[in-house]
Amino acid sequence: MNKKIIIFGGDGFCGWPTSLRLSEVGYDIIIVDNLVRRKTDIELCCDSLTPISTIQARIEAWKQLTGKEIRFEYVDIAKDYDRVLALLREIEPVSVVHFAEQRAAPYSMKSPYHKRYTVDNNLNATHNILCAIVETGLDIHLVHLGTTGYYGYGTAGMDIPEGYLNVKVETDNGELKELEIMYPAKPGSIYHTTKTQDALFFYYYNKNDGLRITDLHQGIVWGTNTPETMRDERLINRFDYDGDYGTVLNRFLMQAAVGHPLTVHGTGGQTRAFIHIRDTTNCIRLAIQNPPKFGERVKIFNQTTECHNIKMLAEKIASMTGAEIRYYQNPRNEDPENELRFCNDSFLKLGLNPITLDEGLLTEVVDIADKYRERCDFSKVICTSTWRSDMAVDFEGSKNPVTTEINSPKVPFQIAAK
Ligand code: NAD
Repeated sequence: MNKKIIIFGGDGFCGWPTSLRLSEVGYDIIIVDNLVRRKTDIELCCDSLTPISTIQARIEAWKQLTGKEIRFEYVDIAKDYDRVLALLREIEPVSVVHFAEQRAAPYSMKSPYHKRYTVDNNLNATHNILCAIVETGLDIHLVHLGTTGYYGYGTAGMDIPEGYLNVKVETDNGELKELEIMYPAKPGSIYHTTKTQDALFFYYYNKNDGLRITDLHQGIVWGTNTPETMRDERLINRFDYDGDYGTVLNRFLMQAAVGHPLTVHGTGGQTRAFIHIRDTTNCIRLAIQNPPKFGERVKIFNQTTECHNIKMLAEKIASMTGAEIRYYQNPRNEDPENELRFCNDSFLKLGLNPITLDEGLLTEVVDIADKYRERCDFSKVICTSTWRSDMAVDFEGSKNPVTTEINSPKVPFQIAAK
Protein backbone atom coordinates (compact mmCIF):
# COMPACT_ATOMS: atom_id res chain seq x y z
CA MET A 1 0.00 0.00 0.00
CA ASN A 2 1.29 3.48 -0.97
CA LYS A 3 2.13 5.32 2.27
CA LYS A 4 4.04 8.25 0.76
CA ILE A 5 2.89 11.71 1.80
CA ILE A 6 4.38 15.04 0.78
CA ILE A 7 4.00 17.73 3.44
CA PHE A 8 4.28 21.16 1.82
CA GLY A 9 5.22 23.58 4.62
CA GLY A 10 6.34 20.73 6.89
CA ASP A 11 8.84 22.89 8.81
CA GLY A 12 6.12 25.20 10.21
CA PHE A 13 4.09 25.33 13.40
CA CYS A 14 1.38 22.90 12.22
CA GLY A 15 3.43 21.11 9.55
CA TRP A 16 6.28 19.89 11.76
CA PRO A 17 4.19 18.11 14.46
CA THR A 18 1.92 16.74 11.71
CA SER A 19 4.92 15.32 9.84
CA LEU A 20 6.07 13.58 13.03
CA ARG A 21 2.57 12.25 13.82
CA LEU A 22 2.16 10.81 10.31
CA SER A 23 5.67 9.35 10.39
CA GLU A 24 4.88 7.83 13.79
CA VAL A 25 1.75 6.08 12.48
CA GLY A 26 3.63 4.59 9.52
CA TYR A 27 3.59 7.03 6.60
CA ASP A 28 6.72 7.85 4.53
CA ILE A 29 7.10 11.60 4.91
CA ILE A 30 8.71 14.02 2.48
CA ILE A 31 8.81 17.61 3.75
CA VAL A 32 8.93 20.33 1.09
CA ASP A 33 9.58 23.81 2.48
CA ASN A 34 11.51 26.95 1.47
CA LEU A 35 12.08 27.86 5.14
CA VAL A 36 10.56 31.30 4.51
CA ARG A 37 8.97 31.31 7.96
CA ARG A 38 12.47 31.22 9.51
CA LYS A 39 13.51 34.07 7.18
CA THR A 40 10.44 36.07 8.27
CA ASP A 41 11.71 35.78 11.86
CA ILE A 42 14.85 37.57 10.66
CA GLU A 43 12.78 40.22 8.87
CA LEU A 44 10.66 40.86 11.97
CA CYS A 45 13.69 40.66 14.34
CA CYS A 46 11.77 38.18 16.45
CA ASP A 47 12.29 34.49 17.10
CA SER A 48 10.13 31.57 18.19
CA LEU A 49 9.86 31.61 22.00
CA THR A 50 10.96 27.98 21.95
CA PRO A 51 14.46 27.35 20.53
CA ILE A 52 13.69 25.39 17.36
CA SER A 53 16.44 23.30 15.76
CA THR A 54 17.37 23.46 12.08
CA ILE A 55 15.30 21.24 9.81
CA GLN A 56 18.35 18.96 9.35
CA ALA A 57 18.84 18.60 13.13
CA ARG A 58 15.13 17.93 13.61
CA ILE A 59 15.10 15.15 11.03
CA GLU A 60 18.33 13.64 12.35
CA ALA A 61 16.95 13.61 15.92
CA TRP A 62 13.76 11.87 14.75
CA LYS A 63 15.85 9.23 12.95
CA GLN A 64 18.02 8.65 16.02
CA LEU A 65 14.96 8.25 18.26
CA THR A 66 12.70 6.18 16.02
CA GLY A 67 14.78 4.83 13.14
CA LYS A 68 12.29 6.52 10.78
CA GLU A 69 13.56 8.61 7.88
CA ILE A 70 11.97 11.91 6.84
CA ARG A 71 13.23 13.38 3.58
CA PHE A 72 13.55 17.16 3.17
CA GLU A 73 13.41 19.16 -0.08
CA TYR A 74 14.16 22.88 -0.13
CA VAL A 75 11.73 24.29 -2.72
CA ASP A 76 9.75 27.50 -3.11
CA ILE A 77 6.54 25.94 -4.35
CA ALA A 78 5.06 29.31 -5.37
CA LYS A 79 7.98 29.94 -7.75
CA ASP A 80 9.44 26.60 -8.79
CA TYR A 81 6.61 24.82 -10.60
CA ASP A 82 8.98 22.44 -12.41
CA ARG A 83 10.42 21.17 -9.13
CA VAL A 84 6.94 20.60 -7.68
CA LEU A 85 5.97 18.66 -10.79
CA ALA A 86 9.20 16.63 -10.77
CA LEU A 87 8.75 15.72 -7.09
CA LEU A 88 5.16 14.57 -7.61
CA ARG A 89 6.25 12.45 -10.61
CA GLU A 90 9.20 10.94 -8.75
CA ILE A 91 7.49 10.26 -5.41
CA GLU A 92 3.95 9.43 -6.60
CA PRO A 93 2.44 10.23 -3.19
CA VAL A 94 -0.99 8.95 -2.21
CA SER A 95 -1.74 12.35 -0.63
CA VAL A 96 -0.14 15.75 -0.29
CA VAL A 97 -0.82 18.07 2.64
CA HIS A 98 -0.58 21.79 1.86
CA PHE A 99 0.43 24.02 4.79
CA ALA A 100 2.79 26.18 2.70
CA GLU A 101 1.22 29.61 2.81
CA GLN A 102 1.87 32.95 4.52
CA ARG A 103 -0.51 32.46 7.40
CA ALA A 104 -0.57 35.59 9.56
CA ALA A 105 -3.42 38.06 9.00
CA PRO A 106 -1.53 40.98 10.66
CA TYR A 107 1.60 40.27 8.58
CA SER A 108 -0.53 40.33 5.42
CA MET A 109 -1.78 43.82 6.37
CA LYS A 110 1.56 45.43 7.30
CA SER A 111 2.18 47.26 4.01
CA PRO A 112 1.49 47.03 0.27
CA TYR A 113 4.60 44.83 -0.02
CA HIS A 114 3.21 42.35 2.54
CA LYS A 115 -0.22 42.29 0.90
CA ARG A 116 1.30 41.57 -2.49
CA TYR A 117 3.71 38.95 -1.12
CA THR A 118 0.87 37.12 0.65
CA VAL A 119 -1.27 37.04 -2.50
CA ASP A 120 1.63 36.04 -4.79
CA ASN A 121 2.89 33.35 -2.43
CA ASN A 122 -0.39 31.79 -1.35
CA LEU A 123 -2.27 31.76 -4.63
CA ASN A 124 0.71 30.58 -6.69
CA ALA A 125 1.61 27.91 -4.13
CA THR A 126 -1.91 26.49 -4.18
CA HIS A 127 -2.32 26.76 -7.93
CA ASN A 128 1.09 25.20 -8.67
CA ILE A 129 0.18 22.13 -6.59
CA LEU A 130 -3.20 21.75 -8.30
CA CYS A 131 -1.83 22.30 -11.80
CA ALA A 132 1.07 19.89 -11.21
CA ILE A 133 -1.23 17.13 -9.89
CA VAL A 134 -3.26 17.39 -13.10
CA GLU A 135 -0.10 17.39 -15.25
CA THR A 136 1.16 14.17 -13.60
CA GLY A 137 -2.10 12.40 -14.40
CA LEU A 138 -1.78 10.67 -11.01
CA ASP A 139 -4.58 10.21 -8.48
CA ILE A 140 -3.19 12.31 -5.62
CA HIS A 141 -5.50 13.45 -2.83
CA LEU A 142 -4.84 17.08 -1.80
CA VAL A 143 -5.46 18.01 1.84
CA HIS A 144 -5.33 21.79 2.30
CA LEU A 145 -5.31 23.92 5.42
CA GLY A 146 -7.89 26.66 5.16
CA THR A 147 -9.36 28.78 7.93
CA THR A 148 -12.64 29.31 9.77
CA GLY A 149 -12.02 32.97 8.82
CA TYR A 150 -13.32 31.94 5.37
CA TYR A 151 -16.85 32.44 6.76
CA GLY A 152 -16.05 35.85 8.26
CA TYR A 153 -16.35 36.79 11.91
CA GLY A 154 -19.85 38.18 12.08
CA THR A 155 -22.88 36.59 13.75
CA ALA A 156 -24.43 33.97 11.46
CA GLY A 157 -27.29 33.14 13.82
CA MET A 158 -26.80 29.41 13.25
CA ASP A 159 -24.18 26.68 13.42
CA ILE A 160 -22.01 27.48 10.39
CA PRO A 161 -22.18 24.39 8.15
CA GLU A 162 -19.15 22.62 6.71
CA GLY A 163 -18.53 24.68 3.58
CA TYR A 164 -21.90 24.40 1.81
CA LEU A 165 -25.20 26.15 2.38
CA ASN A 166 -28.71 25.19 1.24
CA VAL A 167 -30.62 28.20 -0.06
CA LYS A 168 -33.90 28.84 -1.88
CA VAL A 169 -33.97 31.21 -4.86
CA GLU A 170 -36.97 32.57 -6.73
CA THR A 171 -36.88 31.59 -10.43
CA ASP A 172 -38.29 33.66 -13.34
CA ASN A 173 -41.67 31.92 -13.06
CA GLY A 174 -41.94 32.69 -9.34
CA GLU A 175 -41.16 29.17 -8.12
CA LEU A 176 -38.80 28.56 -5.22
CA LYS A 177 -35.85 26.43 -6.24
CA GLU A 178 -33.52 24.77 -3.74
CA LEU A 179 -29.81 25.18 -4.33
CA GLU A 180 -26.65 24.11 -2.57
CA ILE A 181 -23.99 26.81 -2.80
CA MET A 182 -20.55 27.33 -1.35
CA TYR A 183 -20.99 29.22 1.91
CA PRO A 184 -20.51 32.94 1.12
CA ALA A 185 -16.89 33.94 1.73
CA LYS A 186 -16.36 36.97 3.97
CA PRO A 187 -12.60 37.46 4.28
CA GLY A 188 -11.45 39.92 6.93
CA SER A 189 -7.85 40.45 5.77
CA ILE A 190 -5.66 39.88 2.72
CA TYR A 191 -4.50 36.60 4.26
CA HIS A 192 -8.10 35.43 4.66
CA THR A 193 -8.84 36.60 1.11
CA THR A 194 -6.18 34.24 -0.25
CA LYS A 195 -7.85 31.33 1.55
CA THR A 196 -11.23 32.15 0.04
CA GLN A 197 -9.61 32.35 -3.40
CA ASP A 198 -7.93 28.97 -2.80
CA ALA A 199 -11.45 27.59 -2.32
CA LEU A 200 -12.39 28.71 -5.85
CA PHE A 201 -9.32 26.97 -7.28
CA PHE A 202 -10.43 23.81 -5.47
CA TYR A 203 -13.98 24.11 -6.82
CA TYR A 204 -12.66 24.52 -10.36
CA TYR A 205 -10.04 21.71 -10.36
CA ASN A 206 -12.49 19.34 -8.72
CA LYS A 207 -15.19 20.11 -11.28
CA ASN A 208 -12.95 20.27 -14.35
CA ASP A 209 -10.30 17.62 -13.65
CA GLY A 210 -11.96 15.48 -11.00
CA LEU A 211 -9.22 16.12 -8.44
CA ARG A 212 -9.91 14.70 -5.00
CA ILE A 213 -9.57 17.56 -2.54
CA THR A 214 -10.22 18.04 1.18
CA ASP A 215 -10.22 21.64 2.46
CA LEU A 216 -9.90 21.95 6.23
CA HIS A 217 -11.38 25.16 7.59
CA GLN A 218 -9.23 25.29 10.68
CA GLY A 219 -9.76 27.37 13.83
CA ILE A 220 -6.99 29.20 15.70
CA VAL A 221 -4.43 26.64 16.81
CA TRP A 222 -3.21 26.69 20.41
CA GLY A 223 -0.67 24.66 22.38
CA THR A 224 2.78 23.76 21.16
CA ASN A 225 3.71 20.24 22.19
CA THR A 226 2.53 16.93 20.82
CA PRO A 227 3.55 13.47 22.10
CA GLU A 228 6.12 13.34 19.28
CA THR A 229 7.67 16.83 19.71
CA MET A 230 8.02 16.18 23.46
CA ARG A 231 10.36 13.25 22.95
CA ASP A 232 13.47 15.35 22.58
CA GLU A 233 14.41 19.05 22.90
CA ARG A 234 15.62 18.98 19.27
CA LEU A 235 12.07 18.15 18.12
CA ILE A 236 10.48 21.10 19.90
CA ASN A 237 7.77 22.95 17.98
CA ARG A 238 7.82 26.69 17.27
CA PHE A 239 5.91 29.09 19.55
CA ASP A 240 5.01 32.46 18.03
CA TYR A 241 4.17 35.20 20.52
CA ASP A 242 4.75 38.43 18.56
CA GLY A 243 2.01 40.80 17.38
CA ASP A 244 2.12 39.45 13.82
CA TYR A 245 2.40 35.67 14.08
CA GLY A 246 1.35 34.97 17.67
CA THR A 247 -2.22 33.69 17.88
CA VAL A 248 -4.52 34.93 20.59
CA LEU A 249 -4.70 32.07 23.09
CA ASN A 250 -1.00 31.17 22.98
CA ARG A 251 -0.22 34.89 23.30
CA PHE A 252 -2.38 35.25 26.42
CA LEU A 253 -0.79 32.17 28.00
CA MET A 254 2.71 33.39 27.19
CA GLN A 255 1.91 36.95 28.38
CA ALA A 256 0.67 35.53 31.69
CA ALA A 257 3.90 33.51 32.04
CA VAL A 258 6.29 36.42 31.41
CA GLY A 259 4.36 39.10 33.33
CA HIS A 260 3.01 41.12 30.38
CA PRO A 261 -0.64 42.30 30.62
CA LEU A 262 -3.01 40.22 28.50
CA THR A 263 -3.52 42.23 25.29
CA VAL A 264 -7.26 42.24 24.58
CA HIS A 265 -8.29 44.18 21.45
CA GLY A 266 -11.29 46.53 21.76
CA THR A 267 -13.95 45.17 24.11
CA GLY A 268 -12.86 41.55 23.78
CA GLY A 269 -16.37 40.83 22.53
CA GLN A 270 -15.05 38.88 19.55
CA THR A 271 -15.73 35.13 19.48
CA ARG A 272 -13.29 32.84 17.70
CA ALA A 273 -12.90 29.13 16.96
CA PHE A 274 -10.03 27.09 18.46
CA ILE A 275 -8.29 23.76 18.14
CA HIS A 276 -5.34 22.24 20.00
CA ILE A 277 -2.24 21.40 17.95
CA ARG A 278 -2.58 17.71 18.93
CA ASP A 279 -6.08 17.67 17.42
CA THR A 280 -4.73 19.39 14.28
CA THR A 281 -2.30 16.51 13.73
CA ASN A 282 -5.01 13.91 14.32
CA CYS A 283 -7.53 15.65 12.06
CA ILE A 284 -5.03 15.62 9.20
CA ARG A 285 -4.41 11.91 9.73
CA LEU A 286 -8.20 11.35 9.60
CA ALA A 287 -8.53 13.50 6.46
CA ILE A 288 -5.80 11.49 4.71
CA GLN A 289 -7.43 8.22 5.71
CA ASN A 290 -10.88 9.33 4.49
CA PRO A 291 -10.42 10.94 1.05
CA PRO A 292 -13.39 11.99 -1.05
CA LYS A 293 -14.66 9.34 -3.43
CA PHE A 294 -14.03 9.71 -7.17
CA GLY A 295 -16.46 12.28 -8.55
CA GLU A 296 -17.30 13.67 -5.10
CA ARG A 297 -17.31 17.46 -4.69
CA VAL A 298 -14.58 19.14 -2.60
CA LYS A 299 -14.86 17.80 0.94
CA ILE A 300 -14.89 20.63 3.48
CA PHE A 301 -14.42 20.00 7.19
CA ASN A 302 -14.67 22.59 9.94
CA GLN A 303 -11.47 21.68 11.78
CA THR A 304 -12.32 23.31 15.09
CA THR A 305 -13.34 21.94 18.45
CA GLU A 306 -14.71 24.91 20.45
CA CYS A 307 -15.53 28.62 20.23
CA HIS A 308 -14.68 31.19 22.90
CA ASN A 309 -15.29 34.84 23.57
CA ILE A 310 -11.93 36.64 23.85
CA LYS A 311 -12.78 38.60 27.02
CA MET A 312 -13.94 35.45 28.78
CA LEU A 313 -10.79 33.68 27.63
CA ALA A 314 -8.63 36.47 29.08
CA GLU A 315 -10.60 36.35 32.35
CA LYS A 316 -10.15 32.59 32.57
CA ILE A 317 -6.38 32.90 32.12
CA ALA A 318 -6.20 35.87 34.52
CA SER A 319 -7.99 33.92 37.23
CA MET A 320 -5.71 30.93 36.60
CA THR A 321 -2.45 32.91 36.69
CA GLY A 322 -3.17 36.27 38.36
CA ALA A 323 -2.28 38.14 35.13
CA GLU A 324 -3.50 41.71 34.51
CA ILE A 325 -5.89 42.29 31.59
CA ARG A 326 -5.48 45.42 29.44
CA TYR A 327 -7.66 46.56 26.56
CA TYR A 328 -6.08 48.10 23.44
CA GLN A 329 -7.53 49.96 20.46
CA ASN A 330 -8.26 47.25 17.94
CA PRO A 331 -5.67 47.34 15.13
CA ARG A 332 -8.06 45.28 12.99
CA ASN A 333 -11.14 46.39 11.09
CA GLU A 334 -13.62 43.81 12.38
CA ASP A 335 -16.95 43.50 14.18
CA PRO A 336 -16.30 44.56 17.79
CA GLU A 337 -18.55 41.75 19.01
CA ASN A 338 -19.91 38.60 17.40
CA GLU A 339 -21.33 35.20 18.15
CA LEU A 340 -19.90 32.12 16.48
CA ARG A 341 -20.94 28.50 16.35
CA PHE A 342 -19.72 25.81 14.00
CA CYS A 343 -20.92 22.44 12.86
CA ASN A 344 -17.96 20.05 13.18
CA ASP A 345 -19.76 16.72 12.84
CA SER A 346 -17.48 15.29 10.16
CA PHE A 347 -14.41 14.88 12.34
CA LEU A 348 -16.46 13.78 15.35
CA LYS A 349 -18.05 11.04 13.20
CA LEU A 350 -14.58 9.95 12.08
CA GLY A 351 -13.62 9.45 15.71
CA LEU A 352 -11.95 12.72 16.79
CA ASN A 353 -12.02 13.01 20.57
CA PRO A 354 -11.56 16.78 21.01
CA ILE A 355 -9.18 18.34 23.49
CA THR A 356 -10.90 21.20 25.31
CA LEU A 357 -9.51 24.15 27.24
CA ASP A 358 -10.32 22.52 30.54
CA GLU A 359 -7.94 19.61 30.24
CA GLY A 360 -4.84 20.94 31.95
CA LEU A 361 -3.10 21.80 28.71
CA LEU A 362 -3.44 25.56 29.36
CA THR A 363 -1.04 25.16 32.28
CA GLU A 364 1.33 23.16 30.10
CA VAL A 365 1.60 26.08 27.66
CA VAL A 366 2.20 28.55 30.53
CA ASP A 367 4.95 26.25 31.83
CA ILE A 368 6.65 26.12 28.42
CA ALA A 369 6.46 29.91 28.05
CA ASP A 370 7.86 30.28 31.57
CA LYS A 371 10.75 27.93 30.76
CA TYR A 372 11.82 30.08 27.79
CA ARG A 373 10.82 33.50 29.19
CA GLU A 374 14.39 34.84 28.75
CA ARG A 375 13.90 34.56 24.98
CA CYS A 376 10.89 36.91 25.00
CA ASP A 377 11.39 40.37 23.48
CA PHE A 378 8.74 42.52 25.19
CA SER A 379 8.89 45.12 22.40
CA LYS A 380 7.42 42.56 19.98
CA VAL A 381 4.28 41.76 21.98
CA ILE A 382 1.97 44.64 20.98
CA CYS A 383 0.45 44.23 17.51
CA THR A 384 1.70 47.13 15.39
CA SER A 385 0.22 45.99 12.06
CA THR A 386 -2.99 47.91 11.43
CA TRP A 387 -5.68 47.14 8.88
CA ARG A 388 -5.41 50.62 7.34
CA SER A 389 -2.54 53.10 7.27
CA ASP A 390 -4.65 55.79 9.01
CA MET A 391 -5.28 53.57 12.06
CA ALA A 392 -3.36 54.33 15.24
CA VAL A 393 -1.30 51.80 17.21
CA ASP A 394 -2.18 51.73 20.91
CA PHE A 395 0.92 50.93 22.99
CA GLU A 396 -0.59 51.90 26.35
CA GLY A 397 -3.96 50.17 26.59
CA SER A 398 -6.41 50.81 29.41
CA LYS A 399 -8.00 49.01 32.33
CA ASN A 400 -11.46 49.16 30.75
CA PRO A 401 -12.78 47.72 27.49
CA VAL A 402 -12.18 50.12 24.58
CA THR A 403 -15.56 51.00 23.10
CA THR A 404 -14.66 54.21 21.25
CA GLU A 405 -14.09 53.53 17.60
CA ILE A 406 -11.30 55.95 16.72
CA ASN A 407 -10.26 53.36 14.18
CA SER A 408 -13.56 53.29 12.27
CA PRO A 409 -13.20 53.77 8.48
CA LYS A 410 -12.43 57.31 7.32
CA VAL A 411 -14.60 58.94 4.66
CA PRO A 412 -12.62 58.54 1.42
CA PHE A 413 -10.96 61.89 0.75
CA GLN A 414 -12.62 62.33 -2.66
CA ILE A 415 -16.08 62.20 -1.01
CA ALA A 416 -15.04 64.37 1.94
CA ALA A 417 -13.85 67.07 -0.50
CA LYS A 418 -17.30 67.46 -2.13
P1 NAD B 1 3.76 28.47 9.50
O1 NAD B 1 4.07 29.80 8.90
O2 NAD B 1 4.35 28.14 10.82
O3 NAD B 1 4.15 27.31 8.47
C1 NAD B 1 4.03 27.45 7.09
C2 NAD B 1 5.23 26.75 6.46
O4 NAD B 1 5.13 26.85 5.04
C3 NAD B 1 6.56 27.38 6.87
O5 NAD B 1 7.47 26.39 7.26
C4 NAD B 1 7.02 28.11 5.60
O6 NAD B 1 8.42 28.19 5.51
C5 NAD B 1 6.38 27.26 4.51
N1 NAD B 1 6.11 27.99 3.26
C6 NAD B 1 5.41 29.14 3.08
N2 NAD B 1 5.41 29.50 1.79
C7 NAD B 1 6.11 28.54 1.11
C8 NAD B 1 6.47 28.37 -0.24
N3 NAD B 1 6.13 29.25 -1.19
N4 NAD B 1 7.19 27.27 -0.58
C9 NAD B 1 7.55 26.36 0.37
N5 NAD B 1 7.26 26.48 1.68
C10 NAD B 1 6.55 27.58 2.05
O7 NAD B 1 2.16 28.37 9.55
P2 NAD B 1 1.26 27.33 10.37
O8 NAD B 1 0.77 27.99 11.58
O9 NAD B 1 1.94 26.02 10.45
O10 NAD B 1 0.02 27.21 9.37
C11 NAD B 1 0.00 26.19 8.37
C12 NAD B 1 -1.28 26.33 7.57
O11 NAD B 1 -2.40 26.20 8.45
C13 NAD B 1 -1.40 27.68 6.88
O12 NAD B 1 -1.87 27.52 5.58
C14 NAD B 1 -2.42 28.41 7.72
O13 NAD B 1 -3.18 29.32 6.96
C15 NAD B 1 -3.29 27.29 8.27
N6 NAD B 1 -3.89 27.68 9.56
C16 NAD B 1 -3.10 27.94 10.65
C17 NAD B 1 -3.69 28.33 11.83
C18 NAD B 1 -2.87 28.64 13.08
O14 NAD B 1 -3.45 29.04 14.11
N7 NAD B 1 -1.55 28.46 13.05
C19 NAD B 1 -5.09 28.46 11.91
C20 NAD B 1 -5.86 28.20 10.78
C21 NAD B 1 -5.25 27.80 9.61
